[in-house]
Formats: sequence, structure tokens, C-alpha cells
Amino acid sequence: MKIAICPGSFDPVTLGHLDIISRASGLFDKVIVAVLCNMDKNPSFTVEERMELLRQVTSQYDNVEIDSFQGLLVDYAKEKGAVAVVKGLRAVSDFEYEFQMSMINKKLYADVETVYLNTSQDYMYLSSSVVKQIASFGGDISNFVPEAIHDKIVDRLRNI
Ligand code: ADP
Repeated sequence: MKIAICPGSFDPVTLGHLDIISRASGLFDKVIVAVLCNMDKNPSFTVEERMELLRQVTSQYDNVEIDSFQGLLVDYAKEKGAVAVVKGLRAVSDFEYEFQMSMINKKLYADVETVYLNTSQDYMYLSSSVVKQIASFGGDISNFVPEAIHDKIVDRLRNI
């Protein structure tokens, strides 16, 4: 079974993330969306909340599983028996960082490949931080997040 991991902060999940997850689910037997427990950041949603939002919007994909992880991505990939890490590329600016990460990961653990999927044109400028900024000023985020979780996200972000 070919298992892929889609790692990220998903704080919160956007239509850009969901696009990558759904395309990865068509390419691999199983996709594990792994929420990174990153202590340095100041998140708007707890890891549990982010996982719950992800579960809601991926329920139609039988081969997608939601999990969280701490520490090195390669250790997590090894533990899960994954053959690939799937990442979305939005712009050239994503590339340099992602390229460096994949080189390091390859050195640490040669059996996992990093696979890049280009963003879909509609989501090129979309990130969780853009969603947070717009929502905190009362802007309309309905084109940026899945409809099923829109209200939850708005409620949380309105007053921060
Ligand atoms: P963000 O930058 O939105 O906080 P994350 O750290 O949660 O993103 O990213 C998880 C993964 O999703 C990364 O591989 C990232 O490149 C990808 N991703 C995020 N937004 C998009 C998008 N709009 N289009 C394609 N890929 C995306």
C-alpha cells in the first residue's frame, strides 16, 4: 500500500489545502493529513480543533486519515511506512524553503520522496494567514474555506 503524508499547520484548513489533499487522495492508496504540533507558533485553533475541521471536510475521501505529529517529519513518515510527503507549491517563494527541506529530509531518511503538487490557479494566493487576516477584519472568506466549516472559522476569528 502506497501511503503519503500531507503535513502542515492547517490553522485553519483552506480550500487550497483541500485541493492538495483531494488530488493526493487520487494518487496514493492512503493519505495521512498530519497536523504539525509546533510549539513556536501562536495558533488560532488548537491541534484538536484543526483535526476536527479537517475530519469534517475530508469525510468524503475514504482513503484520507487525519492525525497529528511532533518532532521530525521523517521520523513520523518512517513510523507510518509512508513512501511520500506531498506538499503544495504556490509560488516561487515556496520553492526555496521546500527544496531545502526535501534535501534535508532525503539525507535523514532516503526512503521517502517529497512530491510537489502545483497549486490550482484559484488558490495561488491563499494561505491560512490570509484567511485569518480577512476574517479578523470582518471580510468575506467564503471563497477561501470549505462551506461546511465557514461559520466555525468566522466565529473564532472575528474578534482576534
Ligand atoms: P499555510 O501556509 O496556509 O499556513 P500550511 O503550513 O498549513 O500552510 O501548509 C500545509 C501544506 O499545504 C504545504 O505543503 C503548503 O504548501 C500547502 N498549501 C497551503 N496553501 C496552499 C494553496 N493555496 N495551494 C497549494 N498548496 C497550499
